[in-house]
Amino acid sequence: MELSYILNELGEERGDYFNAVSPPIIQTSNFTFNSVSDFRVALGEEFDAMLYSRGQNPTINILRKKLAALDGAEDALVFSSGIAAVTVPILALLQQGDHAVVVENPYSWTIKLFNNLLPKFGITATYVDGSDLQQIKNAIQSNTKLIYLESPNTFSYELQDLKAVADIAKPKGIITMIDNSYCGPLYQQPIALGIDLVAQSATKYLGGHSDVVAGVVTGSHELIKKIFNNEFLNIGPALSPHSAWLLIRGLRTLPLRMQRSFETAKIVTAWLQQHSAVDKILWPFLPGFKQAELAKKQMQGCGSMFSFTLKNSSVQKIETFCDGLKHILMAVSWGGHESLIIPAIAGVAKNDYDPNNGRHQLIRMYAGLEDADYLIKDLEQALALVD
Ligand SMILES: *Cc1c(COP(=O)(O)O)cnc(C)c1O
Repeated sequence: MELSYILNELGEERGDYFNAVSPPIIQTSNFTFNSVSDFRVALGEEFDAMLYSRGQNPTINILRKKLAALDGAEDALVFSSGIAAVTVPILALLQQGDHAVVVENPYSWTIKLFNNLLPKFGITATYVDGSDLQQIKNAIQSNTKLIYLESPNTFSYELQDLKAVADIAKPKGIITMIDNSYCGPLYQQPIALGIDLVAQSATKYLGGHSDVVAGVVTGSHELIKKIFNNEFLNIGPALSPHSAWLLIRGLRTLPLRMQRSFETAKIVTAWLQQHSAVDKILWPFLPGFKQAELAKKQMQGCGSMFSFTLKNSSVQKIETFCDGLKHILMAVSWGGHESLIIPAIAGVAKNDYDPNNGRHQLIRMYAGLEDADYLIKDLEQALALVD
């Protein structure tokens, strides 16, 4: 399916709503029936019926069609947050006593899911360095039901070879799932590489304007229906129709925004690389990146987030630099119009800072939609404070 068709037409039955170009926000909780017989059918199979907006809603379904098509998947479910799109499918697909192989250092709340929530249900996890296929193979047990990936990682950018992992999992009947928030659907197509479920924080690139919190998971019709029928309806993480509308609007400009910030990240990382105060830079498309070959093989482009370290790094230096930025904002999240910075030490108690821990020294920057020169000028004056 062509990208322009997906973003401008797919799912939009304009004849149903006065030929309006922009779809309506169907802000309703429930839907009526003209006969008991129709009502019974809907109650019997909510996956196929407009019954109640905790399940199906027309505005949300336009978004689902587009998101499924963008990933090359049969179906999609959208959630009120990205972490719900990770948590709810895993709760739906794993049973008590099951085991998961998980890449190390995934998104912070994904770690808490595997460390704190899932053990309550008797589900265990083994963390592996996912860049080493042998570690993944060795961690598989007889009760392993899930291999959970995040490629690239969104702080330290390790990749996993998605096709190779899918090839290990498939013959064993193990479900593979990836958090694809970093690349999004335009720069990485995990389903085509054999991955079963693709989760994303739609808060990031898909929404793109830092004004909505949402998540999506895509996969086969069978898996999506299984997730919907039990855990999705029971936990109730439905997105609001208004947020779905904001995401449909965000998608219209996704290719433009991705291209723009990808270009900006290229320019800014190249500039940082030659700066005397900067030590190393981590970005999958930077020449010399450890897994550059794999990145080029399985990614069609690169997200615009990268990390770097300062020479002779210290807590004081990192704080002076970050506090000195005038335009690049200090905040969590990313994927919006505004460039952001977050030093790893913001999440480390001052006394726990370990100068020998490479991860503690990382400063993560997300390049938004500003001019590259504008960002470079801001970085230049803040780096001068620590050079
Ligand atoms: C933000 C983020 C999430 C969680 O998404 P929310 O929309 O904040 O719930 C999950 N994974 C990654 C990689 C993220 O950056």
